[in-house]
Amino acid sequence: MSAVKLKIAIQKSGRLYEDSTALLKECGIDLRNVKDRLKTESDNFPLEVFFLRDDDIPQYVEDGVADIGIVGENVLLEKNKKVSTIEKLGFGKCRLSIAIPRNQEYGGAESLEGKRIATSYPFLVSQYLANHNVTADIHEISGSVEIAPGIGLADVVADLVSSGSTLFMNGLKEVETILKSEAVLIQNNQLSEEQLQLLNTLLFRIRTVKKAKKNKYVLMNVPNEKLETVVSLLPGMRSPTILPLASTGWSSVHSVLSEAEFWDKIEQLKEAGAEGILVVPIEKMVL
Ligand code: ATP
Ligand code: ZN
Repeated sequence: MSAVKLKIAIQKSGRLYEDSTALLKECGIDLRNVKDRLKTESDNFPLEVFFLRDDDIPQYVEDGVADIGIVGENVLLEKNKKVSTIEKLGFGKCRLSIAIPRNQEYGGAESLEGKRIATSYPFLVSQYLANHNVTADIHEISGSVEIAPGIGLADVVADLVSSGSTLFMNGLKEVETILKSEAVLIQNNQLSEEQLQLLNTLLFRIRTVKKAKKNKYVLMNVPNEKLETVVSLLPGMRSPTILPLASTGWSSVHSVLSEAEFWDKIEQLKEAGAEGILVVPIEKMVL
């Protein structure tokens, strides 16, 4: 057994913490009890976990202090470090948006000319302004950006938004999206062959978990004369499974539906004669 380990950096606490640790758990990686909250290890996978501020994660991965990391694309692109993005993880979804006081009219990007913009993302905002040939005054602040216009510190903000309720509560409205973001897995660019192999194992597990989450297992009863129509609606991994029911003239049909098509398909299946439709979550999906 080689002693090669993979070191992963994840957020210490905050919006990405729960989902990042849950993902490792779903990948079958048990973490030892976190006592000092600085780092921990797994006993059943060669993984060491560092808990850091999200802002520091790209730098630690570039330097090789951590081999891989989980961080929002917003932070990754703002920090602009030399690391590679391996996989989008489907959580921590948000957008970096420009918001202005709700009672003002918005006249497009050019109306930002000469304005004071409060943001924690000076690099991304200046890139956006340059792309639109706009010159504005960027005020970098590290937290509670949304209160800046209210206290006279700025005219507009560029801040992270998910539901928009924080903006609303502060009398602001979202007018432009600079960037759409979600959590991603990043890697150091100089991993050894053995580390890359470990990373592949981890990546296979992550993809297996992601696929399962995107799909549902559905079972339904169908009168035999309607089987053909029902089956034509179902994708399945190869084709749906059809089993005879105890009552003659009926079959049980099993298949896998993706989240994206789920509600439409359920309606169509009902109309086509399917009854007693059961929908079951899938834990892992290996294709
Ligand atoms: P840290 O102490 O690690 O620096 P933080 O306060 O900078 O934490 P959080 O607020 O925990 O960061 O957000 C972490 C990440 O979660 C963000 O960088 C972003 O990728 C993502 N995120 C998702 N939705 C939102 C949102 N509505 N507001 C802010 N961040 C969000
Ligand atoms: Zn942060």
